[in-house]
Amino acid sequence: MSSRVNIAGKALRVPRLEHVLTILALCFLSVQAIAQNVSPTEPFGERDTYYPNTEALQKDEMRVIACGTGMPTTRASQAAACFLVELGNGDKFIFDAGSGSAERISSLQIPYDFLDKVFISHLHADHFGALAELWIGGALMGRQKPLRVWGPSGPTEDLGTAAAINALKLVYRWDLSGRVGLVDFRGYGLEVSEFDYTGENTVVYEDNGVSIRSWPAIHSLDGPVSYSLEWNGLKFVFGGDTYPNTWFNEYAKDADLAIHESFVAVPTMVSKMGFTPESALLVGTQIHTAPEAFGKVMAEIQPRMAVAYHFFKDFDTTSEVNDRIRTTYDGPLSLAEDFMVWNITEDEIRVRMAVVSEETWSPPLAGKAEPPGGDADRKTFSEKTDIPVDALNYSGFIISKKWDGVDEALRGVYKEAEEALGQEFPYPGDE
Ligand SMILES: [Zn+2]
Ligand SMILES: [Zn+2]
Repeated sequence: MSSRVNIAGKALRVPRLEHVLTILALCFLSVQAIAQNVSPTEPFGERDTYYPNTEALQKDEMRVIACGTGMPTTRASQAAACFLVELGNGDKFIFDAGSGSAERISSLQIPYDFLDKVFISHLHADHFGALAELWIGGALMGRQKPLRVWGPSGPTEDLGTAAAINALKLVYRWDLSGRVGLVDFRGYGLEVSEFDYTGENTVVYEDNGVSIRSWPAIHSLDGPVSYSLEWNGLKFVFGGDTYPNTWFNEYAKDADLAIHESFVAVPTMVSKMGFTPESALLVGTQIHTAPEAFGKVMAEIQPRMAVAYHFFKDFDTTSEVNDRIRTTYDGPLSLAEDFMVWNITEDEIRVRMAVVSEETWSPPLAGKAEPPGGDADRKTFSEKTDIPVDALNYSGFIISKKWDGVDEALRGVYKEAEEALGQEFPYPGDE
């Protein structure tokens, strides 16, 4: 059994059973080949690590990368819920954007125009807390189109995704007001599609051969949902936080990859998180899915690969969660941590860890950047928001104390650019 478990980030391949014999034969052959070709100076064959931007995604392949697997209690080693799905047709989808996940996404160095679709399972901070960074930071890093967000309605209008996104736009109104006119503003739009949370396996997105469906989850309040994404005969399932529910049991069936929360075990909630036993029992078993219950769910739906997330994965908690899941489930299992990668084809699911750089800058642009839109952009923004154009520039009060002692030094920077690029850049105020 242990050969099918992925508990410590060790690479794992799970082929379909009928391919096992063929693969065994190939293994013996490849061992011989390696023995013949090994060299002290040349790299050897395929690596067991995923390095972003070194592997083409095949036409029939789905790649899923964990960009957050943790909790609402923040920590440096694990961001909160976020999974990126990349498809061989070029489409990419982000499921949840929990706190801290924007940095993980940035580490993958994917052009931001390709990261314009986010599906939110519910409005807890650990599931959409990084949305603003993905929205505004993503525009600054090269997204040239609006960020599109899908999410469920709630028990009242105020408790739905559209209300949350509209409120977020208000929260960041000063931020946007200070950027408009100074940068290529096309990426700063934020569009929301709210759908009915009561939909049962209802299509909420359909395009380019991809169908995304939603069904309700049972968590905290009415509103949370889980999703499936189907494409090219492959089925990805992302369970938002939930108490085990029969919708999931029914609609997650036949999943190739089934992601579902598996919360921190109750004793650990008491010993490490400061919960009282009473509230640990309630939160750990009734609001969330306990590891033992996660195992029951996966035994019910029998995916090609079960993925547990939403617990802090440490040297001591990993075996604890695993042991508890194994009391109820003995199928293929990944205990997720940030930067775990699943390559999924009809024949095989390959599990590896990505190795990424933390010192990343903006990835390449997918389209040509436009110079700042200046007053024209300010006018459009003013009409949309009712903020007077005057407020989108400094007041005379603030301008009056600009120190002209740096003027000459800064004119030098303009001159340097003119000489380097052979183009005129009028100094502000001189035009
Ligand atoms: Zn939640
Ligand atoms: Zn959560």
